[in-house]
Amino acid sequence: MPKSYNGWSASPNPADFGGLARLEVAGETFAPGVRAGDVHAVFQYLAEQLHRRVEPIVRPDWHQADDWGYSYRKNVNANNLSCHASGTAIDYNATRHPNGKRGTFSAGQVAEIRRILGELEGVVCWGGDFTGTADEMHFEIIKGAGDIARVAAKVRGGAPAPVPPPAPAPPHTPGKFAWNLPAGHYYGNIAGPAKSHGGYYSAERDEVRNIQQWLIYHGCVPGVPSSAWASSGWADGKWEGPTDGAMATWHARFYAGQPFPAQCWRDDYDRLARA
Ligand SMILES: [Zn+2]
Repeated sequence: MPKSYNGWSASPNPADFGGLARLEVAGETFAPGVRAGDVHAVFQYLAEQLHRRVEPIVRPDWHQADDWGYSYRKNVNANNLSCHASGTAIDYNATRHPNGKRGTFSAGQVAEIRRILGELEGVVCWGGDFTGTADEMHFEIIKGAGDIARVAAKVRGGAPAPVPPPAPAPPHTPGKFAWNLPAGHYYGNIAGPAKSHGGYYSAERDEVRNIQQWLIYHGCVPGVPSSAWASSGWADGKWEGPTDGAMATWHARFYAGQPFPAQCWRDDYDRLARA
C-alpha cells in the first residue's frame, strides 16, 4: 500500500487501512470522516478544543461544510501523497484559513492552538508551522501508531480538563525576570563554560526555572502540556540535556537561524518571555 508522507498507509479505498470514522463537532462533520481508531480519537479531541477555545466551527453567517477529512489526493504544496489520503489530516474552517495565506488566526488564537497541540504531546502538526507554503486550516498526524495510541488513550477517557477550574487563577504566564548576566554570558548547559549559567549556583536557579517554564508554555517540551508550565517538575532550575533540546526546539519554531540554538542569550530571552 502507498504511504502518505507522514508514513501512514494510504489508499483510494479507506477499507484497505481500516476504514473511516465520522468526525463531528457541534453538528458540523469533517466529510467524509477520518481514519478510524486512535487517529479519530486524537482528531475528535483536537476539533472539539479548537471549536471551544480557538474559533467556533460553525456560525450562522459563515460558510458551512468547510471542514474536511479523508481525501485521496496529492499534496497540493509538494509532490507527494497528502496526509488526507491516509485519513490522518483534517482541515478546519477551510474557507476562513485558505491554503497559502499566513496570519489568518490572531496571536491569541495561535497561542491557544499551541496549547492544545501541547496537550496532544506534539503528535499533531499545524499547517501554519509549515516552513514552505503555509496551510493554516490544516492539521496532520506526525507520529507513529504507538504515540497516537498513547495520546488517544489519554484524551478518550475524561481528557485533561481543557479549561482550568475557576479556583484562584494562577498567573497566566511565567513572568519575566530582569536580565542580569554580564555581556558575553548566557543561560545554558550546567556543564558548559563559566559564561554558561545553568543552575550550578543556587542563586541562578530561579532564572533557569523561569526559562524552562517559558519553554513549557510555548509547547517545546515533549510530554509536558503547555498548561502545566507552573506545576511541572520538569522546570527544576537545572539546565541539562533536555533543556538544551527544548531550547533548540523553541529556536527552530520561533527564532530560527540563531548561532547557538541550545542557549538562551538576552535577545532570545526577550522573545521567549512573552505570550
Ligand atoms: Zn489539509
